[in-house]
Amino acid sequence: MSTIPRTKTVLPPSRASSLDLVGGELAWDFTNTSSARGSAAHQEHLRDFDTLMQWIEHARVMAPSDCAYIRAQLSGHPRRARQAFARAIELRELIWTIGTALAEQRPVPARPLDLLSAAHAEHLRHAEMRMRMGSYIWVFDPRRDIEAAILGPITLSALTLLMEKDLLRTRRCAGQECGWLFFDTTKNNRRRWCEMRVCGNRAKVRAARDRQKQARKG
Ligand SMILES: [Zn+2]
Repeated sequence: MSTIPRTKTVLPPSRASSLDLVGGELAWDFTNTSSARGSAAHQEHLRDFDTLMQWIEHARVMAPSDCAYIRAQLSGHPRRARQAFARAIELRELIWTIGTALAEQRPVPARPLDLLSAAHAEHLRHAEMRMRMGSYIWVFDPRRDIEAAILGPITLSALTLLMEKDLLRTRRCAGQECGWLFFDTTKNNRRRWCEMRVCGNRAKVRAARDRQKQARKG
């Protein structure tokens, strides 16, 4: 038997608990837990149930005490945790498919919309209407259903934005290593970057480097 250890690709640590929430809507922020999809610079911050729950707590999808309840409930049930994680990624990618179509001003395919409605109908079975600060909202209690508590608010955010927001303001960050989705709420409707200090600056540095290269050639 060989004693040489198998080389393992070492991933940079997940930033699920510290990612910037700049999408302007919970549903877009959820899609922004992955960046540069389909390229060599692809980064995935949701890698398992633990990192999913880190983000859920970070994005305040539910109270920390509810997150603790879910972690405790699923701690001895890796299969259920894996299943919940798989459903979360499925939901995230279908919201992303819808968002990128909107950002590119293409018609949104019917399939992800149908799947989103079906997910909402499923989650709603476990929701309760409760009064909060003068109006009613849907409340998803993990003690009723764990998956609905994790994904119900995100699905609802996606549906609400599709029905109520000015979708022409959906943007995808122009950063080469990014592609995050966000709502452009600027007056002139010309925001290009998820964050100027991150992707905007990166593009500036790249452009300056290209100019230097051109100057040296010339
Ligand atoms: Zn960006």
